[in-house]
Amino acid sequence: MIGQAAGPIDEGAAPFPRSLREGRQTVWLRPAISRSSEVREIVSSAEVEAAVQRFRRFEPVLAGLFGEQEWDGRVRSALIPLSADRHWVKGDHALPMTGSIKARGGVHEVLRLVEERARAQGLLGGDDYRCLLDAGSRSAMAGRKVVVASTGNLGYSVGLVARAFGLRAEIHMSRDAKLWKKEALRAVGATVVEHDCDYTSTVARARAAAATDDAHFIDDERSRDLMTGYAAAGVELEEQLLGAGLEIGPARPLVVYLPCGVGGAPGGITLGLKRRFGDSVITVFVEPVASACVMAAMIQGGCEPVDVASYGGNNDTIADGLAVGRASDLMLSACGNLVDAVVAVTDQDMIMAMRDAWLTYGLRFEPSAAASMAAHSPLMASAARSHGWPDLAHAHHLFWATGGSRLPADEFSALLAR
Ligand SMILES: *Cc1c(COP(=O)(O)O)cnc(C)c1O
Repeated sequence: MIGQAAGPIDEGAAPFPRSLREGRQTVWLRPAISRSSEVREIVSSAEVEAAVQRFRRFEPVLAGLFGEQEWDGRVRSALIPLSADRHWVKGDHALPMTGSIKARGGVHEVLRLVEERARAQGLLGGDDYRCLLDAGSRSAMAGRKVVVASTGNLGYSVGLVARAFGLRAEIHMSRDAKLWKKEALRAVGATVVEHDCDYTSTVARARAAAATDDAHFIDDERSRDLMTGYAAAGVELEEQLLGAGLEIGPARPLVVYLPCGVGGAPGGITLGLKRRFGDSVITVFVEPVASACVMAAMIQGGCEPVDVASYGGNNDTIADGLAVGRASDLMLSACGNLVDAVVAVTDQDMIMAMRDAWLTYGLRFEPSAAASMAAHSPLMASAARSHGWPDLAHAHHLFWATGGSRLPADEFSALLAR
């Protein structure tokens, strides 16, 4: 899983723990839990509120486009109690439209683009957006092209929703992307460009391909629209926690386990939650040990992206949603200081958690989503040994399940059998 780095590892400049370099489970803890007073305004609460409102305006349109199963158009997932005491799952694996957390960030950026184009073309009179369902509006959208690079889920989600509105979609897939996602995209008329390289290089090629006037490039490493779309989930979760009567405070913190690729999704959610709950929420980012780009950045000070090759990571992991070699610049500057812990897990850890979620709870996760559950025990063991961390004996634990309900049955059983 961990290959040779491009050159010899410089031990002096890179004090990476031995377990990380050897491809074993590793935990990084911030010395003390971050506070809401440390939340930066790089991505402001007004921007997040604007995303919440945008999702609201589009509800009737999304219901019209994707409402086969009597969906009301609201992008919202269930808060699922597990049988274990004070353990919860946030069910983004079953989000409408795309079956992954990308229905928040990726879809939000598509909605912003559709809105911008519709305004420019004079299609929108007031706040009733149902005119976007008309054939005329679809043909107006065809003048614009969305370009994105993806390991799978981002491209799948952006492509599906962009095409539903009539936008053209060009999806650049890295070698991690699964065949069924490419086929589904082609079936809705998206152009899929396949690259035999990793995610970082695919991004560079997609960016170059998007240098035309009619194209909009969705930049996973820098996009504010992605991040604010994810951050909107903070509002949703707060309502659900209140509804479930959960008491959260210093004596009963909420530990949230967030699967992490470039960090946009977990970062956006972290921003939303820290603003509301301060240090009563503890955020744990979870990465494959072969793609621990946020852990690598944290170990080196947390200000700049660090390539996983610097500790010997090679991005070879079954968690295609997380196979990313460099963290998002925007995430590190907007909320890198709010990441309380990073847990790097092995492929085997994820497979076991995936099996457990299915056999014990009947929940269908892809490996990326199961990473959240795999991080629980190692986090608890490290936190118990740390002096600066609170006692987690009475904490609530929330596992963010980021994808999986769309996984074809044969892929799912092949993964379970590994
Ligand atoms: C995209 C994705 C993530 C992580 O999102 P980033 O913004 O890349 O950090 C986690 N899980 C799944 C299933 C995903 O598709």
